[in-house]
Parts: sequence; structure tokens; C-alpha cells
Amino acid sequence: MRIKRLLSHSVSLVCIVIMTANGLLAQQETPSFRWYKGNTHTHTLNSDGDSIPLEAAKWYRENGYNFVFITDHEYITNVGPLNHILGKSGSFLVISGQEITDSYDRKPLHLNGLGLEKVVMPNRLQGSVATLQKNIDDIRAGGGVPQLNHPNFGWALTADEIKQLKNVRLMEIHNGHPLVNNLGGGGSPSAEQIWDELLTGGMVIYAIADDDVHHFKRIGDKTAATPGHGWVMVRAAELTPAAIMAALDNGDFYASTGVELEEYTADGSGISIKIKQQTWSKYRVQFIGSGGRVLGETFDNPATYKFNGNEGYVRAKIYESNGKLAWTQPVFFKGP
Ligand SMILES: [Zn+2]
Ligand SMILES: [Zn+2]
Repeated sequence: MRIKRLLSHSVSLVCIVIMTANGLLAQQETPSFRWYKGNTHTHTLNSDGDSIPLEAAKWYRENGYNFVFITDHEYITNVGPLNHILGKSGSFLVISGQEITDSYDRKPLHLNGLGLEKVVMPNRLQGSVATLQKNIDDIRAGGGVPQLNHPNFGWALTADEIKQLKNVRLMEIHNGHPLVNNLGGGGSPSAEQIWDELLTGGMVIYAIADDDVHHFKRIGDKTAATPGHGWVMVRAAELTPAAIMAALDNGDFYASTGVELEEYTADGSGISIKIKQQTWSKYRVQFIGSGGRVLGETFDNPATYKFNGNEGYVRAKIYESNGKLAWTQPVFFKGP
């Protein structure tokens, strides 16, 4: 059995990673790497949000995040002044971005261009795949990292369509906006099931959880798109736009709606996950492979899974008894 190194970054998935209780990396093999908590989808008054960028970024800084991308529709916020006021070396960073807001046949086709510094205008081509691909290409050409947003918003996208896209490796499977249908229904798959279908077809694509926040002034209102519902924990050598964007694009992160990991290890033999225990919580870990099949389930912490080499890919999903979740990214295999 051997791990298929689909991309050079797969090497990072076999590094031993151990975090201390406060999330800092404490392992001799990669001493310079740390975990950084961030949100990749944020709206402000520069499009349809309800707060100025300073207030939005400040919410994330005050709530324990290390970075936030400001991603307004067709608008790039100058993050220099925000970082001057709020930025702190190694602990908080605001990164620019945009949500490219396209559509075809009344289906919303939205992509975040993470790190973009110049607006990419929607290309409005014929066909969902052609439209998204041109926008992805323009994001890459502009130095950004593309993130495919909310595939079930407006029931816009199927796995068969997404599968045809090139050079996009991030997709939202948990978006905090109340109108995006993360869980599917009525015969339509959840965003997570779409993700498994893509992985089963061999697409290298990683799961994002984020807020798609619009409303900082309506905290507690379930009909609003408020902050703090989903985030990524990114493993990077430093807190800079380049390091965070590269780590995201390379799958060096996990997605969470509340579960925090203390350790994540994936090597040639298997996966081991240590969950940061919350006082009254209980946990269940599923290891999931090709076809979305549950390969194993355990209540142990740490939770371990030993590869047999025929799984296609293996990813873990961690359930906390209060409903919080975390998703690790897939480790890919080529059959024996
Ligand atoms: Zn959107
Ligand atoms: Zn949005």
C-alpha cells in the first residue's frame, strides 16, 4: 500500500502534528508551524453587510480568531489601515478578498477570491461550468486562491458540474448563512455528500466551514447571517497572507463548527486524532472513505484508524454531543 502523492503538498499530510492545549504546535519535527483560526467569508458595508470593515474585523479579533478575509461582492477592501489598527504580529491579520457574484440560468454561482487585491468582474458566460471556470482562472491570474461557495444555495450546483472544474481546491460544506441549504433535502444531497462524490471521483478538494457573515448588529437573530458559526484551523509557518493562502490551497487545515483538535497525525499507516475534551461533552469519530462510506467509528479519544490501502481516500468527521462538528481533510490512496 502506498499513499498517492497527488500533489506535492500531500507531504504535509504525513507530518506529525501535535498541538498544545492553546492550539500552538509543540512538536519537534515541525517546530515553526502553528495553528491559526480564521474565517474565509465576510461581508461588510462595502457590499451587503451591516458593519464597516473595522467593526467586522474587530469582532473576529475579540473572539479568538487569528485571521479574517474580507470578501465583499465585487469590492476589495484596503486592509492596510485595518491591520495598522487591529493587526498584531503572529496573532491577528486581516486579509483582502472578494466574492465574485456570478449566475447562470438564475442559479447563483459564487466564488471567493481569497487574497485578491484587484476586483475580478463576473464573466457571465453561457453555462455554469464555463462561467465558474473563467472566474476561477481570473482569480488565479490575480494571485488569489479560489473557494467555491455554498453549492446548495439556490440549488445551483451538482457534483457532476463541480467535477469538471480545474484549479479550485476549496469548497464550502458548512456556510453559516441561514439560506444556503448545507444539509440538502428533498432528494438533493448535502454539501458534504457532494464533497464525498467529488473525492470519490478523484478530485482533490478540501472542505471549508465559514460564516458568510453579513450581520454583526443582529447577534442571536436566527434569521440573520451572524458571525461565529464555522471556521478553519490552518497550519502554517507564519501568519502572513501568503502562508495562510498557501496552507488553505494545500489542504493544511481542518474545518470546524466548534470541535477543537489537540493532535492530528496522518502517516503511511493511518490517522490519529486527539480531540480537545470539553468538560461535559462526549465525542464520536467517523472515518469516511470512497462513496462516503463509513469505514470505522469510535468513541475513543484519541481516535485512530489504520489504513488498508483500498479506501480511495480517508477523512475524519468528529461529532460532539452538543451538535458541534469538525472535518479533517482527505488522505488519498492509490490501490495496492
Ligand atoms: Zn454567496
Ligand atoms: Zn457571501
